[in-house]
Amino acid sequence: MIPFISQLPEAEQTIWIAALNRALPDERVIHVSEVEQVEKKHCQLAIVANPKAELLAEFENLTWLHSIWAGVEKLMISLADSPIEVVRLIDPRLSSTMAEAALAWTLYLHRDMPRYAKQQQNKHWQQHPHILASERRIGILGLGELGQASAKQLRKNGFQVLGWSRTKKHIANVVTYSDNDGLAEMLSKSDILLCLLPLTPATQGLVDKAILANLPQGSAIINFARGGLIDNDALICALNSKHISHAVLDVFDHEPLAPDSVFWQHPDITVLPHISAPTNQASACDIVAKNIMQYRQTGIIPVCVDKTIGY
Ligand code: NAP
Repeated sequence: MIPFISQLPEAEQTIWIAALNRALPDERVIHVSEVEQVEKKHCQLAIVANPKAELLAEFENLTWLHSIWAGVEKLMISLADSPIEVVRLIDPRLSSTMAEAALAWTLYLHRDMPRYAKQQQNKHWQQHPHILASERRIGILGLGELGQASAKQLRKNGFQVLGWSRTKKHIANVVTYSDNDGLAEMLSKSDILLCLLPLTPATQGLVDKAILANLPQGSAIINFARGGLIDNDALICALNSKHISHAVLDVFDHEPLAPDSVFWQHPDITVLPHISAPTNQASACDIVAKNIMQYRQTGIIPVCVDKTIGY
């Protein structure tokens, strides 16, 4: 038996549990509330989506958790002192969905859509010079599963692509950087900065006043990773001073975004409700099932989040 532990709405949990049971016909996946007290100590693993720490604590013999989400920063904080391992969702379908979003919102900025939308509101007819994709430089923070897929998609569409990661990467036709000097160099060459870093102690608030100041005048920013990566006050200042022309924000410190947030009404911010790369239930269930079946056969836990770096 495998408990499903999450804070998703009950109706959504029911759908997930049914889909997981279809993908794992030899297992019994059940809602955490249905696990009998005596059964709890026999559970070695659980399937989770942002589970409450107190519910996890009821299972004294858990060795690992499989998240149905790619981002697991809250889980890593709550399990900082725990021996429980965390396997996050790594799904090629999720990566291609993110790559599609990276392309869509890069094109939105590249083709001046926010500017033309403002002109329409003012019944103002004005054409601006067209810039070729090959003249537009996209800098990507984070070259993991999602960053690399996005980099490749943007290259396919003719953009110049640069990328920064903790360890140096080699990706065809992408100029890659690591370390602080590399970051400064990449920023100075990024017309659009795309954030695809995990939220960890090292990346919390990374995009601050100094980082924004390093970007070229009039550049734009897309955050598809986590709200906590960006210093919000610094971003608003950079937008108000027109140093940054526009920000596309899909993720926020607190979600849903509060009605009184300045982001909603800011003329140079596009607010999205965390939709850039939703988990695809069918492919996620297949991946979770494959990992769990392999574990049952071999006893080997799949690749886990590295607790020392938080992702
Ligand atoms: P990943 O495969 O773990 O890749 C993370 C990348 O960030 C790696 O290239 C890593 O460098 C780099 N990195 C991490 N810490 C760094 C640091 N301190 N300095 C420089 N580079 C650093 O993660 P992923 O699957 O691509 O996902 C990224 C994030 O996207 C997730 O954590 C999640 O928060 C977010 N996400 C958002 C949505 C959405 O719908 N908006 C959906 C899914 C995921 P190395 O390669 O050297 O390790």
